[in-house]
Amino acid sequence: RVEVSVVYTSTTEDFFQILVLLYDVTEIYAVEKMQMDFISNASHELKTPVTAIAGFAETLLGGAKDDPATLDEFLGIIQRESKRLTELIQDVLAISRIESQSLSEQQVTTIKLAEMVTEQTRVLQQIASMKRVTFSNLVSDDVKVSADEKKLDEIIKNLMSNAIKYNHEGGQVKISYQANNEDWSIMVQDTGIGIAQNEQARIFERFYRVDSSRTQQVVSGTGLGLAIVAELVQSMGGQISVHSQRGVGSTFTVTFPIKTQK
Ligand code: ADP
Repeated sequence: RVEVSVVYTSTTEDFFQILVLLYDVTEIYAVEKMQMDFISNASHELKTPVTAIAGFAETLLGGAKDDPATLDEFLGIIQRESKRLTELIQDVLAISRIESQSLSEQQVTTIKLAEMVTEQTRVLQQIASMKRVTFSNLVSDDVKVSADEKKLDEIIKNLMSNAIKYNHEGGQVKISYQANNEDWSIMVQDTGIGIAQNEQARIFERFYRVDSSRTQQVVSGTGLGLAIVAELVQSMGGQISVHSQRGVGSTFTVTFPIKTQK
């Protein structure tokens, strides 16, 4: 996409100059479109739980609260939708935070990776035990990496939480580490439902959820978790990839370059 501006500069009576400027604005438009799409998707997603909460509260106040079973059921819906709204707001704010941060704002420190994984395992223990999902932290205690701690923590938390959410009852989650001279990787592997080949690129898009997760409504989510992960990874100069097979499981690999001092 090109924008043209014409500047007329007359120098003498015999001469005149015309300056034609062509700007390539393809990228600016693409970024603008992405932001507009995000705002319109976000408002749609945010309105859904708000409408449900308002609607059920109004019905209760209109008299439905007198029936104890209806009261229980509707309060349950209001509670569930409020939780969903909170998750959406947190995720939308996380995306805005990432977008407003520049690359230079990285707070790189030395991190003991095994400790970080163990801490997340502790945080996620409750939801894991509800599904009897077990963790294996295969990162050895002496592994130290240089990275932005908050960002890495958020990445690991999201990947581990998905590995539980999309796992089978009694499934497993393995977290491992690999490095060579150029880069280091962390792998989160699960024995869950897997992701079909044609969905694998799309799951990193904002608000995208594989149809079965959306329609079955068994697993709650916003469709923003992996978009947040991908944006964080990119802001840290890394890459993310997924290997997955339906019914067998998925492995998410995040790779970062090792920055050598020059
Ligand atoms: P959410 O979990 O909130 O739906 P995400 O952005 O984290 O959103 O993930 C997008 C979609 O990718 C999920 O809805 C799910 O369909 C799929 N997905 C993510 N992680 C896994 C996984 N480990 N195994 C199977 N499917 C997954």
